[in-house]
Amino acid sequence: MIFGGGIAGLWTLAHLRGLGYSCLLIEARELGAGQTIASQGIIHGGVKYALSGAASAASRAIAEMPDQWRMSLEGRASVDLSRARVLSPHQHLWTTTGIGSRLVGVAASKAIRTPVERVADADRPDWARGAPRGVNIYTVAEPVLDPASLVESLAAPLLGLILRAEDVRFTATGDGHAVGLRRAEGEAAIEARRIVLTAGAGNVELAERARRRNGEPGEPAAMQRRPLHMVMARGRLPAVFGHCLGGGLSDKPRVTITSQMETSGRTVWYIGGAIAEDGVSRSREDQIAASKAELSRCVPWVDLSGTEWATLRVDRAEGRRHDGGVGGGGGGGGGRPDGPVMQDSGGVLCVWPTKLAFAPLVARRVSEWLAGGGVVPGRGAVPEIESVFADWPRPRVAALPWNDAEVEWS
Ligand SMILES: Cc1cc2nc3c(=O)[nH]c(=O)nc-3n(C[C@H](O)[C@H](O)[C@H](O)COP(=O)(O)OP(=O)(O)OC[C@H]3O[C@@H](n4cnc5c(N)ncnc54)[C@H](O)[C@@H]3O)c2cc1C
Repeated sequence: MIFGGGIAGLWTLAHLRGLGYSCLLIEARELGAGQTIASQGIIHGGVKYALSGAASAASRAIAEMPDQWRMSLEGRASVDLSRARVLSPHQHLWTTTGIGSRLVGVAASKAIRTPVERVADADRPDWARGAPRGVNIYTVAEPVLDPASLVESLAAPLLGLILRAEDVRFTATGDGHAVGLRRAEGEAAIEARRIVLTAGAGNVELAERARRRNGEPGEPAAMQRRPLHMVMARGRLPAVFGHCLGGGLSDKPRVTITSQMETSGRTVWYIGGAIAEDGVSRSREDQIAASKAELSRCVPWVDLSGTEWATLRVDRAEGRRHDGGVGGGGGGGGGRPDGPVMQDSGGVLCVWPTKLAFAPLVARRVSEWLAGGGVVPGRGAVPEIESVFADWPRPRVAALPWNDAEVEWS
């Protein structure tokens, strides 16, 4: 049983079904609620890590990710994402002034497989046509996806195995877990040989409940939250996908912009990067003012008049490694993990992918964990599960941040 229907849970469900495992996914709210629907949808291939000079062995694992996603997006892999919307097949890196030295190093780096190509001034993309000379632009082969269609495309073929349940109760059995599911109309009980938690920020609480069920002595799950204050701008804006670099010792993105079209024809810019990390202590109004000032430095040639603004506070939920951890990557001590983090907490596997891009790796490692524990696929059991839960409610896909009715625009 998998708990949590964000990218990690849904990809794992699809992967395990492909291998013939019988599995169920339990979602407490809406699919992707939490981080996945609030993400910028960039399938990183490691350029960002390389820019910060942190191309470790684990971060090199990310280099394989865009290719795996592309196979799924093209419908050539067992996890089929052919119905997910690719907003852009690549993203751009651009500089504020003529500072491209580190980028040249990155472009030539053998540590990352993602091609980084300098764009000639004559070939600039539409959104950058007005950029002054001296602004260097690079194309990076990292696709950008619409998170809502991504979640929808993963969930739709598996909805028979995805249930909405607000409350769960765990009881240990011999080599597994008895799980009681509750909803307004009644209860159900199911025995699961293994439990995988992919509930993002909800992992700790679930793991604690599972751990306490029989006084299991395993270590508690160790998680960290890294808060962000994202910014949204909508109006007559060009579609931009990428990171603006420049200034300081590191080439950490000053802003990361992804774009979506509204049905009204307006474009929404969803803005992250350093502005979202540094803006956590700012009020909504101060964050909007700081973003306008930053955009006037990063894209001074884009006319922002008539644009409406809003912000979103959201936490990244990441695992902290402890000795019981399995899986590669992960810096301890509150640092940013550079790969997925998996912890076996009292016989329950807690998973944090760290990045959307790592979802295929997470799913593979979960199947290795199952096989390592002697749990192998039992073909044929799934239709039974589907019929037992035929009348159980199914979760919907969460709304994209800028479509959320509660967002305040000004
Ligand atoms: C603002 C932002 C932008 C980002 N941009 C990118 C990006 O561009 N590229 C990238 O690679 N990564 C990005 N990330 C990181 C990426 O979004 C996350 O690593 C990833 O989405 C985490 O997925 P998840 O499935 O672990 O968790 P989540 O997406 O948080 O999903 C958890 C799910 O579990 C459910 N849940 C919670 N509690 C329970 C419970 N008790 N029982 C059952 N279900 C429960 C939730 O409702 C939710 O559906 C971004 C993150 C943020 C916050």
